[in-house]
Amino acid sequence: MIVECRNIYKNYTTGKLEVPVLKDVNFSMEEGEYVAIMGPSGSGKSTLMNLIGCLDLPSSGRILIDGQDVSKCSSNELADVRLYKLGFVFQTFQLLAGQTALQNVELPLTYAHVPRARRRELAEEALGRVGLSDRMSFMPNQLSGGQKQRVAIARAIVNHPKLLLADEPTGALDSASGRQVMELFQKLNDEGVSVLMITHDREIAGRARRMAEIRDGILTLTEMEGREK
Ligand code: ADP
Ligand code: MG
Repeated sequence: MIVECRNIYKNYTTGKLEVPVLKDVNFSMEEGEYVAIMGPSGSGKSTLMNLIGCLDLPSSGRILIDGQDVSKCSSNELADVRLYKLGFVFQTFQLLAGQTALQNVELPLTYAHVPRARRRELAEEALGRVGLSDRMSFMPNQLSGGQKQRVAIARAIVNHPKLLLADEPTGALDSASGRQVMELFQKLNDEGVSVLMITHDREIAGRARRMAEIRDGILTLTEMEGREK
């Protein structure tokens, strides 16, 4: 299993008020799978994604990433899981404005202390995989929304992660570039990368073999009948 969530609860405390957001979420995903998560705004989708992405810890319950129990990890260990096992793609790209596409993609490798020449080689390869070999020296503000998201995807895959997490990656894109970005996730999944994707779009979710739906912090799973991976 690439992801296992067992009896996950997440509460946020604001002032004296404890707000339950995730309620006994159980979810698992095998390596190589493509799973879509849907649900209305405020239902807890990003909260779950951030827990699986090791950006936050559950209030209770266990999360295993590639067999490793991350609910017990120190913040340094969590950073390593993020760096070596996960790639994260956000709705708003989260690129550094003052850095070229290539430098943005190199960033995780810098954290991983990869030597400069190798860093460049890997970043060029990742930009090639997303079809942006001709945009490597462009700054983010010289790129279209779809191109920015493809740079963000290149950054997410540059370390060859086992699991790609995407939180509404087409939410800020027009439908044509959204479609391109979705095709890219499909291609990466065909190449063996596990994909967990949050989306509002039923058509997009329909491409996944399994779908999870969150309502009010409760997750239910649906198998998509007759759909090949
Ligand atoms: P979704 O991604 O499905 O729109 P979220 O997971 O972002 O939903 O949020 C779920 C609920 O948790 C919302 O009611 C939101 O206000 C609350 N929430 C999210 N993050 C925090 C936080 N850091 N502190 C307090 N409440 C939060
Ligand atoms: Mg969200």
